[in-house]
Amino acid sequence: MNGFTPLDIDEAWRNEAPFNIYGPCSAESPEQLLQTAAGIHERFGKVIFRAGIWKPRTRPDSFEGVGREGLVWLREVRDRFGFQVTTEVASAQHVELCLEHGIDMVWIGARSTVNPFSVQEIAEALRGTGIPVFLKNPIHSDFSLWVGGLERLNKVGIRKLGAIHRGFYEWNSKPYRYSPRWELPIELKRKFDRLPIVCDISHIGGDPRLLPGLAQKALDLDFDGLMIETHVRPSEALSDARQQITPAELDGLVHGLIRRETSFDANDGLLALRREIDDLDDVALAAIAKRMQVVREIGRFKREHNVTILQVDRLREMIRRNVRNGEALGLDPDFVKQMLSLVHSEAVRQQNEIMNDEP
Ligand code: PEP
Ligand code: MN
Repeated sequence: MNGFTPLDIDEAWRNEAPFNIYGPCSAESPEQLLQTAAGIHERFGKVIFRAGIWKPRTRPDSFEGVGREGLVWLREVRDRFGFQVTTEVASAQHVELCLEHGIDMVWIGARSTVNPFSVQEIAEALRGTGIPVFLKNPIHSDFSLWVGGLERLNKVGIRKLGAIHRGFYEWNSKPYRYSPRWELPIELKRKFDRLPIVCDISHIGGDPRLLPGLAQKALDLDFDGLMIETHVRPSEALSDARQQITPAELDGLVHGLIRRETSFDANDGLLALRREIDDLDDVALAAIAKRMQVVREIGRFKREHNVTILQVDRLREMIRRNVRNGEALGLDPDFVKQMLSLVHSEAVRQQNEIMNDEP
């Protein structure tokens, strides 16, 4: 995955991090919004207040948001409590209405990020407005689509630009609602080190019990803020009732987090350990390279004897054996399986090359 050009991010805006975005999944009534905002205001200083006005729902006949009147209520939250306010936009018309109502920033939801037409339309509508935009990851783990959306927004001159990691749909994502797949936001950070990334722990977790662990992990991975769905009466919420928490619970959660330093002066002990890691990586890499040579040798044998690359019984046995050995060495079985799956897919690719391309 090469060839990404750097994103041009507004430095002064970036320095406003952390971007902590709290508020209900949806705006439901003026009372619900103002009471939730009051609860948050009592406990926190400067936060960004969120509420969905137009709700993309998986099934029809679910609550689809209050529409434009909710923007008036959001505006009132802004005026009364001095919060910046934000909502999700999914079309140029949504953007225009947000601008009319003085909404401070917007985000693009996971279901819009999958559609380049939508992202482009929203980008055009936002061109020249100067309001910050956060792009959620697409619902499936398509890294290029996430990057592509950010590039589209940046290309029309949006420099107050950030990403929101909200997890990825997977058939089995337990215990989470959406799999965190931390490697994707980490890759985004690695490619675009000035891009702020907020972690939407509510949609990842889908369950208040998972929030503290997710929030701590996000901080430990040096995310630039948290999005946490907060509702004055979560059980009565018209959307995402199961994952929202009260302002008091939000207070407990946020103030229980440990904030660590992002850099430090490595002492000699640590440097020695890092050298040891580097040496071990060298050994592991050399072993894998050697393994691939054997794999290619086997590939030639298979070609000569005209047998298939994949022999599923052998694959099963190889996984069983390594998981067992890994466990004895204290390695997590899921980790061993994932690692083997990666190594095996490269082995298949190599043998495929031998079968079809090697003279
Ligand atoms: C939301 O933030 O309420 C929402 C609908 O998010 P997502 O686009 O991540 O599903
Ligand atoms: Mn929600």
